Amino acid sequence: MAVAQQISETNPWHTAQHQFDEAADMLKLDPGLRVILREVQREFTCHFPVQMDDGSVRCYTGYRVQHNINRGPAKGGLRFHPDVSLDEVKALAMWMTWKCAVVNIPYGGAKGGVIVDPRKLSPSELEHLTRRFATEISILVGPDRDIPAPDVGTNAQVMAWFMDTISMHKGYSVPATVTGKPVEVGGSLGRTDATGRGVMICTLAALEHLGLKPFGAKVVVQGFGNVGSVSARLLEEAGCTVIAVSEDYGGIYNPHGLPIRKLIEHRAREGTLKDFPGIEVISNDDLLRLECDVLVPAALENQITSRNAGEIRAKLIVEGANGPTTPGGDEILHRRKIFLVPDILANAGGVTVSYFEWVQDLQSFFWSEHEINQRLETIMQRSFREVLAIMKEKQVDLRLAAYLLAVRRVSEATAERGIYP
Ligand code: NAD
Repeated sequence: MAVAQQISETNPWHTAQHQFDEAADMLKLDPGLRVILREVQREFTCHFPVQMDDGSVRCYTGYRVQHNINRGPAKGGLRFHPDVSLDEVKALAMWMTWKCAVVNIPYGGAKGGVIVDPRKLSPSELEHLTRRFATEISILVGPDRDIPAPDVGTNAQVMAWFMDTISMHKGYSVPATVTGKPVEVGGSLGRTDATGRGVMICTLAALEHLGLKPFGAKVVVQGFGNVGSVSARLLEEAGCTVIAVSEDYGGIYNPHGLPIRKLIEHRAREGTLKDFPGIEVISNDDLLRLECDVLVPAALENQITSRNAGEIRAKLIVEGANGPTTPGGDEILHRRKIFLVPDILANAGGVTVSYFEWVQDLQSFFWSEHEINQRLETIMQRSFREVLAIMKEKQVDLRLAAYLLAVRRVSEATAERGIYP
């Protein structure tokens, strides 16, 4: 007898399946395609030891999930965070499939993660953990199979260790095995800024759609890591006024605008935004409720839910993070006519430049930063226009429009390839 699934608003996998179901219903998707796409293709769990600096041994749990590889090799980041779970990684893998399809790059979707707080490890412990995890998932990854990238808690250095480990196993360098690497070892110019640049491009396009000007538009950014800090900096350069930013312990606020470049320098130096002189401290809950033109959630999932969506006072939300809004939150925002650019479109700049990095590595021929930013802009603008056109034609919100485009592309590829054997 089938056991009814207990649906939780804050379980990202339930959110991902709910979003897929909405699109599948509207597309009247063939039932066979529906059962394939509603589940992940492969999920891998490992428990592995790491020797700490004091000689003790700890066991960590890690995952790599591939949702769908019908449009190309699997692609998706690696997350090091204490709250990583298999359901979260499955959701993130599914979202990667749709994201690659929305911007029409030839990849499937994957994601990986380790349950760990990397801030509590020394550099050598972090390196050992990365190298051992790379070894555990090496049976899945490779330039033509599955290509990881940075996500929450990982960075270019972690990617360099990952690439070096896989290369050591092979006996020769395989730079295309992972993206988001330092430029010196085959990384791409523009990759560090790429996700935030895509967020900025989508924000400006959405402001234009709403008839609002970027100059002086008040922006609030939740999360000040790679995506949040770059989004804030580029939006400031585009003429916006960033009035609040935050990290996991809370945020800072100045109604007249924050000096973003100085904040980035302060955070690089001190490892935190705390103690920056002359600013007002604000909780993450209050930050989300600030009156502003643009809210960029750029931290983690489940930030805008049925609990607080009624209190959001932004005109536009641009999802830098993956899954920051739950279906309950979405419903309320839609009813309140708050325009939302969904994650699978808004933060697709990262995977787009990761794709450029992979292409450059495979050819050993590298492009200028100008060329990369131009190509990124072309892809983001085109994708935004395509999704907006579907929104208008089908009279749906932008998230469902992006899903209709993505699920159609992936289901066509899946149907054309057929069911093996
Ligand atoms: P990061 O580790 O560089 O930064 C995460 C930031 O979020 C940190 O500043 C952290 O303090 C903050 N944070 C964590 N929990 C918070 C909370 N509850 N409230 C406020 N701030 C909180 O990670 P990142 O790479 O910037 O990723 C952020 C989000 O963007 C994630 O959802 C990730 O999946 C998504 N994303 C990242 C990329 C990429 O290229 N790095 C691409 C697409 C999407």
